[in-house]
Amino acid sequence: MTSELGRLVEVALPVPLFQTFTYALDPAAESIPVAGSRVVVPFRNRKEIGVCLGPTDGVGLKQKAKRVIEVPDAAPALSESMLSLCRWIADYYIVPFGMVLRTALPAALTGSEQPRPVRKTHRIVRLREDLPTLIHRDKAFGRAPQQRAVFELLESLGGTSTLDHLLGGLAFSPSVLKALEKRGLVTVDSKEIDRDPFALRETKAGKPHLPTSAQAAAIANLSAAGPGEVFLLHGITGSGKTLVYIELLREIVDERGQTAIVLVPEIALTPQTVDRFRAVFGDRIAVLHSALSDGERYDAWLALKRGDKKIAVGARSAIFAPLEKLGAIIVDEEHESSYKQGDTPRYHAREVAIMRAQLEGATVVLGSATPSLESWTNALASKYRLLTLPERVGGGRLPRVEVIDLRLRAVKLADTSTGPGTGYSSVIRDELDVALASTLMRGEQSILLLNRRGYSAFVQCNDCGNVVVCPNCSITLTVHRAPERLLCHYCSHQEPLQSTCARCGGVTPRHRGMGTQQVERLLAERFPSARIARMDVDTTSGKWAHAEILDRVGSGDVDILLGTQMIAKGLDFPNVTLVGVIDADVGINLPDFRASERCFQLLSQVAGRAGRGPKGGSVLIQTRVPSHHAVRCALAHDYKTFVRDELAGRLKPPYPPNLRLANIVFSGTDDRATAALATAGADWLRDLLTHAGGEVTLIGPAPAPIERIKTRWRWHVLLKSPNSLELTRVGRYFMERFPVPAALRVTLDRDPVALL
Ligand code: ADP
Ligand code: ZN
Repeated sequence: MTSELGRLVEVALPVPLFQTFTYALDPAAESIPVAGSRVVVPFRNRKEIGVCLGPTDGVGLKQKAKRVIEVPDAAPALSESMLSLCRWIADYYIVPFGMVLRTALPAALTGSEQPRPVRKTHRIVRLREDLPTLIHRDKAFGRAPQQRAVFELLESLGGTSTLDHLLGGLAFSPSVLKALEKRGLVTVDSKEIDRDPFALRETKAGKPHLPTSAQAAAIANLSAAGPGEVFLLHGITGSGKTLVYIELLREIVDERGQTAIVLVPEIALTPQTVDRFRAVFGDRIAVLHSALSDGERYDAWLALKRGDKKIAVGARSAIFAPLEKLGAIIVDEEHESSYKQGDTPRYHAREVAIMRAQLEGATVVLGSATPSLESWTNALASKYRLLTLPERVGGGRLPRVEVIDLRLRAVKLADTSTGPGTGYSSVIRDELDVALASTLMRGEQSILLLNRRGYSAFVQCNDCGNVVVCPNCSITLTVHRAPERLLCHYCSHQEPLQSTCARCGGVTPRHRGMGTQQVERLLAERFPSARIARMDVDTTSGKWAHAEILDRVGSGDVDILLGTQMIAKGLDFPNVTLVGVIDADVGINLPDFRASERCFQLLSQVAGRAGRGPKGGSVLIQTRVPSHHAVRCALAHDYKTFVRDELAGRLKPPYPPNLRLANIVFSGTDDRATAALATAGADWLRDLLTHAGGEVTLIGPAPAPIERIKTRWRWHVLLKSPNSLELTRVGRYFMERFPVPAALRVTLDRDPVALL
């Protein structure tokens, strides 16, 4: 054994176990791999790629250590500070270290198959003809609804799609495509190679702007920052935050020879923002977007690691860009929930950014028009420094925002023969209809937001807008059948379903969400000559579909853009003069403690899309709760009042940022076994808390608000604590020791952004 001492290494493997592993080096190998190097090792009869954490003495080793098979790279894949960052993520988010390391490296370096995947070839279907209006379409497709469906789908995908996607993913028959091809409406080209659309996008350099005095002050503060300092840049929509980022990057990269990371919520949704960075920094930027193949992503990773590229721009995983001499990290739209990863490790890129900046002495800028309550609270507590851009650039005004009260005329509508809530005039009320018509007539553009579809039914009074909430948890109760009742998805509180409103005695029909597709149809019938584009998960499954739809809006080929919340992000189209919100209440009444915050952010963001040009603009919000603080404050563009009211509302019962949360989700394909495991887990935790809990409290178990995802039933319990360390301790103890049967799964989500 002594001869092997000093020849043993500790290795982290991407397996769901809270431990690291000991392996022996080949006695012939001359040196021990540096911590952060990849190693190929045998693990349960297969090869795994792990990361070496350094030498170990093997004390407590029960059996002879297996041999490392290979040390493939000359240099470590992860720097020392990146290892420390990953260690922090593993500890804080309570996940196995090896799983974090795998997330931090490009897939090409962690896959056990080929080191470099080859690029794919595809067959591409393209539209050839344009049928701009409903009349054209009805003529062309009179008796061929399938052909029409494919045609419109292609259109909504921006004009192209892969054949695989149409035939496989969407299950259209090849004969439909053949017919379209024969009629000359589409072409099919084979062997198209996956290209990087960003590399092909042209960037218009545009004339550089002189910073306004507010921008100049922000820039001056940022360039004088101390190492690890965090700034919250609160700038209203259209206040020119991007210019501030760009000037800081110029200083960091050009003057100081350092590097930087820019995080955006989703590359595909923000092509305009990315284009602006590319226009200034050209090929010194690596854009890490989802359309890159593993090989291309690896190329970008290498270019950043070698220092050939100085700036990484990307969604949350770009926080792991292997840059040295990091000077700044920018988190644009820092309030966006897409910064939180939905799978293990469930890290929040904003928090990781702050930790990374601390480790590497970089400056952090968190930018938003509607900062998260967490960041705002930190700014108030002077943990972050607050910078403000209070006005729109060039004296532009924020658009006028008005509400349309859906409660009015509700009774009259219920009398109509088609049934309530289904006809055009009940979906789009008169005021919004008139505004749409006149915007069309002026040749200007409109954006219509249809909030996330209600996946769960709640009851809302038609007369007063009242919604029943849980007396313990202050969240919306959800309607359940068999037996029919109202249920709280946090604490399992139940009450009978009443047919009349407890507040005003009015009727309380169940709220049904209407889909974007139905609304599109109603709009097309009302405005047959309008060019309507729809943007939702169905129309944007193609990787570049977002950018293509947005480009069409930008070039004036779309009159009305209808979409879900994905249309609310940083779009800057001067010809958009009308924004309509079809039903603000769907978002407000989700059974989630952040529902109001997210609704306020969404309304503010989408309102910010209107009136960006000299023509000005207006915003119309349809709602049954015009006096709700999310609606009221969005109307007045009053962020501070919203935050004050919302923070007060999260005191009793307390919710973040007034304390810390961890959501433990139990899932399985068997409903009863899942419920039983959740109950057992809650009992186990309660027992633990009575002995060692101190400041941690438990709520639940209850069915999760989204009760079933991909055939798996879901239950959850919530851990709450004002003490972050204690929450870590309890969570870790549970995740490491609570026994879970093979068919079931338990996950822990620290600082969850949604409890759905
Ligand atoms: P935000 O991200 O804060 O909503 P943007 O960065 O998109 O705002 O800027 C809004 C618009 O103002 C953009 O069209 C941008 O080019 C323009 N702009 C920004 N700063 C200036 C400036 N100093 N002078 C003139 N125009 C500017
Ligand atoms: Zn409750």
